[in-house]
Amino acid sequence: MMGRTHALSGALAWLAAVPVLAQDRLLHDYAVHLSAEQVLAGSVVCAGAAILPDIDHHNGRIANTFGPITHHMCKWIGKLSGGHRHATHSILFAGAMGWAMDALATHYVYAWWACLFMIVGLGLRGVGLDFEGREPQSALADCALAAIAVWLMHKIDMSFVGFAVTLGCLAHVAGDCLTPRGCPVFWPLPWRIDVPLIPRTDGKVERWVVAPLLSVGIAIMAVRSVLGDVTTRWLTKG
Ligand SMILES: [Zn+2]
Repeated sequence: MMGRTHALSGALAWLAAVPVLAQDRLLHDYAVHLSAEQVLAGSVVCAGAAILPDIDHHNGRIANTFGPITHHMCKWIGKLSGGHRHATHSILFAGAMGWAMDALATHYVYAWWACLFMIVGLGLRGVGLDFEGREPQSALADCALAAIAVWLMHKIDMSFVGFAVTLGCLAHVAGDCLTPRGCPVFWPLPWRIDVPLIPRTDGKVERWVVAPLLSVGIAIMAVRSVLGDVTTRWLTKG
């Protein structure tokens, strides 16, 4: 699947998870009620994380972000992880990425902000910040907007980032499982899971069915989340 479709699937996964996380009856003391700002920040983080598993692709979204540096990095990660769509396309990788973000937040807070900046940049680029064919302009605009977004995020409680990163990676793996090549979801176990509903990357099904459906889903869930937050604030004020 294309980077943009993955990013959209990450944003939708987050917006679908938010109402579930808020279920007091289901989760009791573990229920989490997020503000509209947190929901929005989480959408961008989850969208960016939904591109992360393709860090094993020498010519993917991540590889082309900062020229030769990211190109070589992705090439080596691809080699070390067993090639494209191997270790990084698994539940283990998704969990490890979320855990790593939480560990950085606790022990290396500046590294955490740097990783957050990268993930937010990927998310913004993924969901549409792209001037077709104008690479330097796209990269510059992305860096500037990601810096502003991360600066705004420092004012809110971002303790959900680890969860959002894991969820985004899982959304990516689920999306790739819908293509003929599938993913080794339970890596290091060798089985690949594939339910090939999307016959070709960037084909008609992905462009004209999957991406529009994801966009409509995001719009509906975003309005629902924001309206829910505004109503709650209004009721608690009254
Ligand atoms: Zn992938």
